[in-house]
Amino acid sequence: MWEAQLALAAAFLRERDDFLVVSHVQPDGDAISSTVAVGWMLDKLGKSYTMMNEGPVPSRLRFLWNCGSIVECAEGEPTRKYRNVIAVDCADFSRVGPTQQWFEEGFELLNIDHHPTNDAYGKENLLRFDAAATAEILYELSGHLGLALDADAATAFYTGLLTDTGGFRYANTSPFVMEAASRLLAAGAQGPVLAEQLLERMSMGQMRMIQRGLSRLAFTDDQRIGWIWVTSEDLAETGATNEDLEGLVNYPRNIEGVEVGVLFKENGTKSVKVSMRSAGRVNVAAAAQHFGGGGHVRAAGCRLTIPLADAMEQVIAYLKKELDAL
Ligand code: 5GP
Ligand code: MN
Repeated sequence: MWEAQLALAAAFLRERDDFLVVSHVQPDGDAISSTVAVGWMLDKLGKSYTMMNEGPVPSRLRFLWNCGSIVECAEGEPTRKYRNVIAVDCADFSRVGPTQQWFEEGFELLNIDHHPTNDAYGKENLLRFDAAATAEILYELSGHLGLALDADAATAFYTGLLTDTGGFRYANTSPFVMEAASRLLAAGAQGPVLAEQLLERMSMGQMRMIQRGLSRLAFTDDQRIGWIWVTSEDLAETGATNEDLEGLVNYPRNIEGVEVGVLFKENGTKSVKVSMRSAGRVNVAAAAQHFGGGGHVRAAGCRLTIPLADAMEQVIAYLKKELDAL
């Protein structure tokens, strides 16, 4: 079954040409490394392709091979449209965001992803829900295609694995992940350099947001839910960007006794991005889905188009009910 899926995905790359490669809005390490990894494979196959994302490549990830070629999808009319689309790390079609304006009518999409909430929206779907990262699936696909790893590809695959496993610590760090990581190191990925760049280093904006966020840490009475909120003014005043908020949600989640940590990020006056992290007992993917989002059992998110105070009230009330039902 999996081999058959790999073969179909490989055929999609081999038998077509002129691709558009996209990932999700507000791209993370796995999204960008998966985008460039697909680009690398298409390059090796001698195909022409365009890589595109809604937003800019986070500065932390700008060392990745060819990531300077990822087109930032601007507002307005697309200059041309694509028939062959490859979407990586997108749990559902809406996660593709505005890059879909560049899809031709009747486009054919290869959906490559590891989110258990993925609803197989592609014409072809390469989905493995026990994969730690989309980059892990792409690593397998490149093997299936018979492509010899070089340092550029190894660095991209390793980046996706490292970031989506939280530095090879989360429960998704399977024996297969460590085996793959071992081969990637042998192929030239610079493990310690990548760990420093991706996990240790902090921008000043990030530290300023931790400072503000922690000063607002709040809990339910039983202290089983902890949360932090960040307003649009916070971002403006600290000069922090979206990528500077990564990791903030782990602070409440990491506290002894806390079952769910939540980060509420205000986006203008009527839009809130919610990140949820579970210590293991609460399925936050289900909670996120309830609010129109998705993700993994222990890490999920959603977007609500209501004011911040309402979002906090609704999400915390829902999670309280879930915890009480355990
Ligand atoms: P984060 O909280 O770091 O943004 O995302 C955690 C996980 O939830 C990621 O795997 C991400 O793909 C997923 N996720 C976050 N926001 C959304 C959303 O709005 N919709 C869906 N379907 N998944 C999301
Ligand atoms: Mn991922």
